[in-house]
Amino acid sequence: MPEVKVLTRHFGAPGVTGLEGYRRVGGYRGLEKALRVGPEAVAAEVKASGLRGRGGAAFPTATKWSFLPQGVFPRYLCVNADESEPGCFKDRVLLEEMPHQLIEGAMIAAFALQVSHAFIYIRGEYRRQRELLERAVREAYSAHLCGPSVLGGEWGCELIVHGGAGAYICGEETALLDSLEGRRGQPRLKPPFPAVKGLYGQPTVVNNVETLSNLPYIVVEGGAAYAALGTEGSPGSRLFCVSGHVQSPGTFEVAMGKTTFRELIELAGGVRPGHHFKAMQPGGGSMQILGPQHLDLALDFKAVSDAGSSLGAGALVVMDETTCLVDVSMRLVDFYRHESCGKCVPCREGTYFESELMHRLEAGLATEAELGTLPDVCRAMDGRCFCPLGDTATWFVMSAYRMFPEEFHSHCGAGACPVRSALGAAA
Ligand code: SF4
Repeated sequence: MPEVKVLTRHFGAPGVTGLEGYRRVGGYRGLEKALRVGPEAVAAEVKASGLRGRGGAAFPTATKWSFLPQGVFPRYLCVNADESEPGCFKDRVLLEEMPHQLIEGAMIAAFALQVSHAFIYIRGEYRRQRELLERAVREAYSAHLCGPSVLGGEWGCELIVHGGAGAYICGEETALLDSLEGRRGQPRLKPPFPAVKGLYGQPTVVNNVETLSNLPYIVVEGGAAYAALGTEGSPGSRLFCVSGHVQSPGTFEVAMGKTTFRELIELAGGVRPGHHFKAMQPGGGSMQILGPQHLDLALDFKAVSDAGSSLGAGALVVMDETTCLVDVSMRLVDFYRHESCGKCVPCREGTYFESELMHRLEAGLATEAELGTLPDVCRAMDGRCFCPLGDTATWFVMSAYRMFPEEFHSHCGAGACPVRSALGAAA
């Protein structure tokens, strides 16, 4: 079986959402060991693990940490729990099932980076998860697992939970920092990068929930053991959210590089009975579409990149033959139009044009000449926006247009969605 258990190994254990239950399964041994071996040894294990960020960019975690300038304090750690990618719900599961695993991971990172204030920025809509997290943080404080003297030692770190207000853009690390500082969340110009000038103008590391939740295992078992779960290019394990037209949508932890898309879909029960696979979004709504010819690709960063897409935030959305890709493109473009922060013209205006066009196309009202403007609009956006939101707003729609051109053309002047009309006639 391709499933492995690192992050999920204690899911469902009695009382594991609370401190006592978490300690019963070995919780906080990683933090204790980290304090014993020292910050450099922890950073060395993280480097040996090959851990890459699980928020979407897949940047090597140890390298990100190494960018902090030597001897500049205060410095901050921000945990990005602003999970908002369409199709992605793995951080929510981690927060619900094992909030202390994240707290322990955050405190290990804070110690390795010699941070005295760490923040968990949680998505505004995750109200229940925030309550669970805040309760766990209170427990951690009362057990001196965070606060002025962690486990009775000289190092201390305050851990603050901060709720967002429901903006997708605040998942972008510099917009998150602006929001955390009390301003409207909009991306900042980079460089300077947050590692040099981040929260309150000080060196800052922003790491994702899943990334940090791996640290207790890495510190206890060793970086090499974690890396060996996957392959050289894609070390470790990873959580994938599988949703869409599968029988049992859910979150699955698998070995990176050793598991294929087909195996992952089978873990979710396979495509619903009586239907067949048409296409998938391999990394959430922002990533390029993949088709049946990609089902046997490994969940490997390079293999998926060579196929023209990305594993993104770890959200696999499966679509069967009943899916109209013009309809899906329209809904995604509407999402980006709504979430565009409005700071730069290519994104603010481009998502508007995309959305208007996709609505006319889906209704069967657009002409071939109008459809012909879609690549121009997307070219004017991709690579010309201030932050990745504007670029990625073009990726799904353009990749779907390239892979299924006849489906897009068949909508022109059809007077209605031909995919839905055909389904209606067949029913
Ligand atoms: Fe804002 Fe979009 Fe520009 Fe990003 S690309 S800064 S979200 S307007």
